[in-house]
Amino acid sequence: MTFSKLKAWEIAQGYRNRDFSCEEVTREFLDNIKEKDKEINAYITVTEELALKKAKEVDEKFHNREEMSPLAGIPISIKDNISVKNVKMTCGSRMLENYISPYDATLVKKIKDNDGVILGKVNLDEFAMGASTRTSYFGVTKNPLDTTRVSGGSSGGSAASVSANMAAISIGSDTGGSVRQPSSFCKTVGMKPTYGSISRFGMASMANTFDQPGVIANDVRDLTIMFNVIEGRDERDATSVGNPGLNFDFDFSDDAIKNLEGKKFAIPKTYLEMDLNERVRSELEKAIEILRENGAQVDEYDIKSLNHTIETYNILVNGEIASNLARFDSIRYGHRTDKKFETIEEMYRASRSEGFGDEVKRRIMIGTNILSMDNAEEFYYKALKVRGLIKRDMDRMFKDYDFMICPTFPVLPFKIDDNISPVEAYQADLFTIPANMVGSPSISLPMPAGQDGLSIGIEFTGKRFKDKNLLQASLAFERSLNK
Ligand code: GLN
Repeated sequence: MTFSKLKAWEIAQGYRNRDFSCEEVTREFLDNIKEKDKEINAYITVTEELALKKAKEVDEKFHNREEMSPLAGIPISIKDNISVKNVKMTCGSRMLENYISPYDATLVKKIKDNDGVILGKVNLDEFAMGASTRTSYFGVTKNPLDTTRVSGGSSGGSAASVSANMAAISIGSDTGGSVRQPSSFCKTVGMKPTYGSISRFGMASMANTFDQPGVIANDVRDLTIMFNVIEGRDERDATSVGNPGLNFDFDFSDDAIKNLEGKKFAIPKTYLEMDLNERVRSELEKAIEILRENGAQVDEYDIKSLNHTIETYNILVNGEIASNLARFDSIRYGHRTDKKFETIEEMYRASRSEGFGDEVKRRIMIGTNILSMDNAEEFYYKALKVRGLIKRDMDRMFKDYDFMICPTFPVLPFKIDDNISPVEAYQADLFTIPANMVGSPSISLPMPAGQDGLSIGIEFTGKRFKDKNLLQASLAFERSLNK
């Protein structure tokens, strides 16, 4: 039996039918990690002992016929910017190379309470800044579909662990696309829900008004198992409000395919006018055809403010980064230099220079500059206004349309040694960023693989707190692809 190829919901059914035990399943996933991860490099920390201990507990509970959560016994990987008590949390940085979390993030506590089996912590771009995992202090995570390519980022370890059957479901985080873009690269399904749906307590902040935990899995149904568990208001995160749209009884019957009938999709004109990669464009056209065949309407829609998303995102996000990362002062947290120092400034300078990598330093410098007195008026406050404009325009669009559709990313996965400048990398995030700007739920769904084994992700973005509609349409789209 190869349990690790099953969907999480199939594993859950197997437990209920007593087809196999959680220990057998967990051991197979751990064996896969031992066999494949030397090459892929998805995991930073594997918590084998904890996982096996949990697996035995789960088997015992099933044996005693206790009522179990659908997540019980499902092998899970967690992005390494989210706290798991007594386990290292590196954020992909030398700064936190030896930091051990003293508590569980709220979402991790919920996973544990629901008997999910945590296999370990997975790789990311340093402090989630990037789109390839190449900025990780722990090296790049290779793409399981083609190991000469990157897995994407920043949640590249999450997507690769699911894609290579080294976890059934993974938790990532999404500030500007970091759950959806690696899903597009690794042929997994990845969704960031509405901002505020899931507590950020225990997740290291990159840009706190954009950050939201997300889920990467093998299909839409598996996403819902995890969202059901981790959704909810948390008094320890004042920006969390919970979201009943993530916690309801889904219809997984064959009828679910009808969920596309009468739905209205908008495709931004500015995206179609771009110089898109040919394969990305043709997959997008196929996706549109499938939607139409299943009774949906897809229209071009003019939304000019989307032309300003990249600049606006970079100003606001870098400002928030500079402020959030100030806490790594090597007194309360983080790497401390071995060099001799006379003053506290010298100590900060040496420790932070050694602890942070180039990308993080670049963003802290830009952010600090943007927030400094004269520039704040010129850049930061203006960018806040543009964010407001984008929000207004998208709200208008969502009065007439249920969803926005586009490719998740404009190009195929980068080759590991492709030379991409930071600016080119920032520009490539244009399709994923709008959802974070306005707090909307957004999902990347894989198109069937081509002959080279690679696939393109199609992105649906929905109205805030209408995550249920987004998941239902996604399920229907997934079913129509597999028909
Ligand atoms: N690639 C984007 C960036 O580098 C997104 C990062 C993220 O979502 N964490 O900013």
